[in-house]
Amino acid sequence: MNKQQRNGNGRGIEWTDWTWNPTAGCLHGCTWRMPDGSIAECYAKKIAEGLAKGAYPLGFEHHYWREHALYAPLNEKTPSKIFVGSMADLFGHWVPEEQIRQVLGVMEQAHWHTFQTLSKYPVRLPEFNPFPQNVWVGVSLPAGHLLSQAGASRALKAYLRQMAGIRASVRYMSIEPLWFDAGEVLDEWIEERGFLPFEWAIVGAATNGAKTFQPKPAWVINLLNVLGEHSIPVFFKGNLEWSPWREEFPIGGFAESATYWKELTSSRRVIAETAP
Ligand code: SF4
Repeated sequence: MNKQQRNGNGRGIEWTDWTWNPTAGCLHGCTWRMPDGSIAECYAKKIAEGLAKGAYPLGFEHHYWREHALYAPLNEKTPSKIFVGSMADLFGHWVPEEQIRQVLGVMEQAHWHTFQTLSKYPVRLPEFNPFPQNVWVGVSLPAGHLLSQAGASRALKAYLRQMAGIRASVRYMSIEPLWFDAGEVLDEWIEERGFLPFEWAIVGAATNGAKTFQPKPAWVINLLNVLGEHSIPVFFKGNLEWSPWREEFPIGGFAESATYWKELTSSRRVIAETAP
């Protein structure tokens, strides 16, 4: 596992304590069109094909099963937040189900930690319901340089539908980069459904490594308004320029989440029991 530093120089992932990659490599091939027209590639791919090349002999677009790393969280005794898959998508369509279940099993065993997964393939997530109580299940905002804003809006609504089917103590959305008016789409969703299917949001700017592009202020305001109306805690990535600054986590941390999870599962049980 890799310890994440919060030393203000932009290195490390601010919303977690450790990264852990029992699987590595990714076939999603994400790219982003920057506001200046340049195309940015996935940061993990850059690392895998640069600094960490030795660990990726078959390139980044390949699935690696790192069995030697599987039990690493059990060796860390201090309760920590652990981001699972900073160099992968654990729930990618190419990952064997058996491997995902082994990783989930270790998360459940290491019950003193809080695990944060993040996927760009939410359609697969409900397959693993219910998630262990100490697992926060995240989905990234749709992106891709061929995606239009209208296409991204449709994709975001599809993601929200899939997130509504996830049974986890905390579901979250990583809205990074905020590259279109996602708040407006969330508003439309709420008008139709009356709720947001996540309990935490991470918000960040677009970057190609060399340069950072801030979202339009109106997009940030719309997003914060809709999240605020639904009491969703917000964590700003260090690349976002905004004031007042916010670094919030799901209210009450894991203990609160566990209570929520119990309520959620018992209410779903009632729904299931009363269903025709
Ligand atoms: S899902 Fe994540 S790791 Fe995979 S290509 Fe996209 S940004 Fe990179």
